[in-house]
Order: sequence, then C-alpha cells, then structure tokens
Amino acid sequence: MVMTTVHPALSFELFPPRSQASCESLLRTIAELEGTNPDYVSVTYAGDAKRRQKTLALLDHLVHETSLTPLAHLICAGHSVHELERAVRLILGLGVRGFLALRGDIQDGQVSELPFARYLVELIRRVEREDFAHLAAGKVSIGVAAYPQKHPESASLLQDIEILLSKQRAGADFAITQVFFEDERYSALVDSAHLAGVDIPIIPGIMPVTSLKRLQNLCQMAGMEVPTDLAYALETATSSAELHRIGVDYALNQCRAVMDAGAPGLHFFTFNEHAAVLDVLDQLDLPRYSNRFSQPLSELEFA
Ligand code: FAD
Repeated sequence: MVMTTVHPALSFELFPPRSQASCESLLRTIAELEGTNPDYVSVTYAGDAKRRQKTLALLDHLVHETSLTPLAHLICAGHSVHELERAVRLILGLGVRGFLALRGDIQDGQVSELPFARYLVELIRRVEREDFAHLAAGKVSIGVAAYPQKHPESASLLQDIEILLSKQRAGADFAITQVFFEDERYSALVDSAHLAGVDIPIIPGIMPVTSLKRLQNLCQMAGMEVPTDLAYALETATSSAELHRIGVDYALNQCRAVMDAGAPGLHFFTFNEHAAVLDVLDQLDLPRYSNRFSQPLSELEFA
C-alpha cells in the first residue's frame, strides 16, 4: 500500500437542481462548501436534454460566480460521437478543464456510438489534442469511475480492475470510486489495482447517509446490498438529530479508515446538502479550510 505524505484532496459532488426551491438551497450549499476550499467540485450529468442544459448552467455558475474548480461528469450512453465532441467543446468553452468520463446506465432502446467509458476518455483526449492551441497546450484532467464493490454488469472484481487499467491506458488521470460501506473494500480495490499496474490515484467516494430511504434507493441504483448495520441504526433512530449523527459518524469512520489506507483524497457525494458533510469535515483532523495552493504571494519562495 502506498502511503500519501500530503493531506488528502477534498472534493464534493453536486447535481443540477430540479426546481426553483432546490436551486436556492443549492446556492446556499455551494456557498457553504466554498468555505472549505475544496480542490474541485464535480457536477453530475443526466442524459435528457432539459437536465443537460441544467448541468451546463451549473458548470457556468461555478466557473463564473464562485471560486470553485468544477469537474464535469459526461456520459457516452445515448449519445453519438458528434454530440459528445460538441459537449466536450462546449464544456471546455465554459472554462472547465476537468471531466469525469463515464458510460452512464444504458436505457432501453438507447443508441450509443461509444459502448464503454474508455472510448469517451479517448474522445476527450482527441478533442484536447485538436484544441491544444486554445488550451495553451494545457492538459485536460480526466477522471473515471472505479468500483470497490463489483459493478453489477461485471463478471468479477478482477474484470473491474482490468477495465480500470484500460481506462488508465486510454488517458485517465485519476479515478473516483462508487459509494461503498465496508471500509476494507477500498483498500482491497487499491491493492489489487496496484498489483495489476494501475498507478493513477483512486479517490474514495464517501456519502454521509442520514435516511434509510436514501440508503435503500442508493444501494438499489448501484446494485449493492444494503449494509445491515447502518440500515438498522437508521431504522431505529428516534429523531432527525439522531439520524444526522448516525450518518455523520458512519462517514467519519469511513474517512478515517480510507485515510489510514493511504487515500489520496476524499470525494463527498453531498446530495446537494452541506450540513452532514461539514460536520464530518469538522471532526476530521485535516489541515483543511486553507488551500495549500492559496498562500499569500509574500510567503511564496522558490529557493
Ligand atoms: P465502464 O467503465 O464503461 O464499465 C461499464 C460496464 O461495462 C462494467 O461492467 C465493465 O466491466 C464493462 N466493460 C467496460 N469495458 C468493457 C469491455 N471492453 N468489454 C466488456 N465489458 C466492458 N452516471 C450518470 O449517468 N451520470 C453521472 O453523473 C454519474 N456519475 C458517477 C460518478 C461516480 C463517481 C461513479 C462511480 C458513477 C457515476 N455514474 C454516473 C454511474 C455510472 O455511469 C454507472 O456506474 C455505469 O453503469 C458505468 O459507468 P462506467 O463509467 O464505470 O462504465
């Protein structure tokens, strides 16, 4: 296991709001999260045209109205190559320089010219090469998904590792994991991935879950078994304060476990809410809330 010497990167996942009320609460969440100086904030992507527009609007807001660095999720399911090239160029045009390249979940009757995420990584790299002059020869950063618990369509965990390696070879710079609830699954994934030749950072995805319904929906969507200890605790909680504490404590323990295992970052699935995530961060012994890249100029010395 490779141990990190610097403190872990910090990032959050947001999704485009569905209504005016959720838009207002998202703006409050963004302001709260901005105060933690995250390294980046990722924005999820949904296939339908209306939601796509909202993804672009949220990315635009993050670039132009906040100090945050956005990472745009993009999926190849349901899209033609031409549409994906256009999407990549549109997102680069907003000033975004990071993508999370995903396949997405295949809907019935959907036509996808690119069957797997690896091809989307290659497409983004190709567009990047074609646009080098506009990007000042700068590199676009590409993340991909990794799975501590087997992806529902994969034959085995080993297949997931082989696919992760193929995404690295296609040009991925880092991976973010699917949510998981058994801590040892993260270190097992990292150890097997290293043995197979994966050397990009694998960042654990952490979600403070404060409701049994959300836990059940999440596990169903990700094709995972519901963790019985957390489900029992949430089911028998007698107040919203207790639900909150259970979710925060569980996520806090996970963060400590993955940091002990050398995690290079912590990526929080926020569900567009900040309270539980901020409570976890407050209790972690991290030199956070001051970005190591944002020192006063007077303190910067090269020699
Ligand atoms: P892939 O890496 O293409 O893998 C998909 C399946 O195909 C796997 O079972 C893999 O083993 C198999 N496979 C891959 N290549 C091959 C091959 N050459 N031959 C045979 N089998 C192969 N979904 C969204 O719609 N929007 C989002 O914003 C979003 N954000 C996410 C963020 C994170 C951090 C994660 C972990 C997932 C996210 N997802 C999102 C869900 C993701 O789209 C699904 O998990 C999807 O089912 C798989 O995506 P992938 O990129 O891992 O696909």
